[in-house]
Amino acid sequence: MNPIATATRSSGPVRPATGNDCLDALSADALGLLRPHLSEVAVDDGHVFWDAEIYLTTLFPASGLVSITVRLASGEGIEVASVAKEGAAAQFTLEPLHTVTQASAFAGGTFFRIPSAQLLAAAQRNEEIARLAHFCRDWVFAQAQQLAACNAVHSAEQRLCRWLAQSCRRLGTPTLHATQDGIAAALGIRRTTVTLLAQTLQTKGLIQYRRGKMVVTELARLESMSCECCRALDGKYWPSSRLQDVKKRERERERERLIAPD
Ligand SMILES: [Zn+2]
Repeated sequence: MNPIATATRSSGPVRPATGNDCLDALSADALGLLRPHLSEVAVDDGHVFWDAEIYLTTLFPASGLVSITVRLASGEGIEVASVAKEGAAAQFTLEPLHTVTQASAFAGGTFFRIPSAQLLAAAQRNEEIARLAHFCRDWVFAQAQQLAACNAVHSAEQRLCRWLAQSCRRLGTPTLHATQDGIAAALGIRRTTVTLLAQTLQTKGLIQYRRGKMVVTELARLESMSCECCRALDGKYWPSSRLQDVKKRERERERERLIAPD
């Protein structure tokens, strides 16, 4: 399966989107270094990628959402980061490590996989790929730090609003296939609490929910009811956005260089 083969139109070569915004932000040359090592896999909700063990693969979601949780002896698994098409989920190391996290598909979908050794080797040779790996690593760690504070201080309602808003933004859809049990587990709150809060949000017209499905109808209002972590982890901090910002600045510098007098 080679879903990212180059397509051709009469106006010249056109590269079809992979669906992962980080991969799609790369130049053709940079993506060309990764392409021979990329493979595509489709998994269902709940598929476990790693569970407290070293995982030598980097995942670029094209659709679907990877939830990274810390599992406790009581059986609870609290989400400390999540990644959709704006980034990549990985451990970002080839060395044996002490990891306490589990990564699973909260929402199933399509994922591009690459051996982390190949990604990191390409990063040694290519500045764009090095930047991509840095931004994706930074994104997971930034979430872990922010959510440590969020889980300790912010209310269940604020956190539920944040989780729903962030999931919609990252997946690019107002419809989330998520059970209240699953959301409760990710947020470390009781399912009955999620049920009560969801009823309140539905009464206010912010969401509609049925068994296993939530539709966010008022995303902006939901974000306004979220805790500050929603803004602290805003779209402008996504790896894909940061890659686009760098490219934009480079284009502006190049334009200024071309029009600057000798
Ligand atoms: Zn928060």
